[in-house]
Amino acid sequence: MTVEIDLISDTSTRPGAEMLAAMCAAETGDEQRYEDPTTLALEIRAAELLGQEKALFLPSGTMCNQISFLVHCRPGDEIICADSAHVFGSEGAGAAALAGAQFRPISSSTGIFTADDALPLIREPRHRSPRSRVIEVEQTTNRGGGRVWPVAALQDLATLAHERDMALHMDGARLFNASVSAGLPARAFASLCDSVWVDLSKGLGCPFGAVLAGSEDFIAEALIWKHRLGGAMRQSGFMAAAGLFAFDHNIERLADDHRNAEHFATVLRDVSGLKVTPESGFTNIVFLDLSELDVTAPTFAAALLESGVRVNVEGPKRIRVVTHLDVSTAQVARAADLARETLLRLIR
Ligand SMILES: *Cc1c(COP(=O)(O)O)cnc(C)c1O
Repeated sequence: MTVEIDLISDTSTRPGAEMLAAMCAAETGDEQRYEDPTTLALEIRAAELLGQEKALFLPSGTMCNQISFLVHCRPGDEIICADSAHVFGSEGAGAAALAGAQFRPISSSTGIFTADDALPLIREPRHRSPRSRVIEVEQTTNRGGGRVWPVAALQDLATLAHERDMALHMDGARLFNASVSAGLPARAFASLCDSVWVDLSKGLGCPFGAVLAGSEDFIAEALIWKHRLGGAMRQSGFMAAAGLFAFDHNIERLADDHRNAEHFATVLRDVSGLKVTPESGFTNIVFLDLSELDVTAPTFAAALLESGVRVNVEGPKRIRVVTHLDVSTAQVARAADLARETLLRLIR
C-alpha cells in the first residue's frame, strides 16, 4: 500500500525545490578547518536565535544530547528528567554508556514537571550518593503530546539548578514549535538553559542536522567531543544551507501544522470512548488512546494504512500523529475523516 499521507513523524519531510536550490548554491569548505563559511554562518545565526554565546552544528539531535551530558557530567553523576523523555527511553541509554551518568526520572504524563517536583530528587552532597548534576527538559514534550514548557516553569528550574550547582539542559528538538505556539522568540526559553539545541530535521524540514548552543566554554568542550565521537564533518555547508533556509522560511509556518493537528484532534474526539490528547494548546503532535475501545493500535494503524494514511504505533493502545510541512491542510483533514471512519468501522 502506498503511503499518501504520512503522519508518522515530522522527520519524514523531504527538502523542497527551494531548499534544494539553496543547498546546491552553498559556499563550502572543510568544516574541520573552520573553512566552511555556510556552517559558520549557521552557527552564528543559531546562537543568536537561541540567546546563547556560541553554537555548534552536529549531525543529529541525539549527538547534541549525548555531547551535552559528556560536557556536564562525570561518571557517577545523575540527570533528572521526565520518564517520557527521549534521552531516557530512546537514545540507547547513551548517558550511561558514554558519560557514565544515570537518570532519576520524574513520572509525568505530560512530560512537564515543576521545580517542586524536581527538588526532592536532588540529592544532598554525600560521599555515597550520586552527584545530582543536570536537570533535563524537552521542549516541546514529544511523548507528552507536544506540550509547551512555560517560561516561568523553566525560570524556576534554572534558579533551582543553579542554586544546587547543576546545569539546566534543554532538548529543543521542537523548540520552534513551542516558540510559534507561545508567540515568544525561541530565546525566551533557550537563554534560560546552560545548554540547548534545536533539530533541523524535524518540523523545520531539513534532511539532517541539529545545532547545539551554550556558553563559549561549554561549546569549546563540546567541540572536543564532536571530534572524538566522529561528528566533525567536511563540506557540511550543503546541509547547513538547508538549516539557514529553514530558519528564514520554515519557522512561522509551523502555525499551520499546529492548526492541522488541532483539526485532526477535533474530528477524532467525535469517537466516543477515544481519548485524544492534548485537550488544548496544540503544537504538531496528537495522541490517541484506544484503551476504552475494542481495537488495538496495530490493528487500527494497519487498517488506516489501507487508505494510504500512516500513523505511529506507540504502544498496544496508543497512536501518535504528527503534522508537518509535507502534509497539507486538506490532506490532514482527509486523514482525520479516514481515521474517524476506520475507527468507527472497527469498533462497530
Ligand atoms: C527526534 C528527537 C530527538 C533526536 O533527534 P535526532 O536528530 O533524530 O537524533 C531527541 N529528542 C526528541 C524529543 C526528539 O523528538
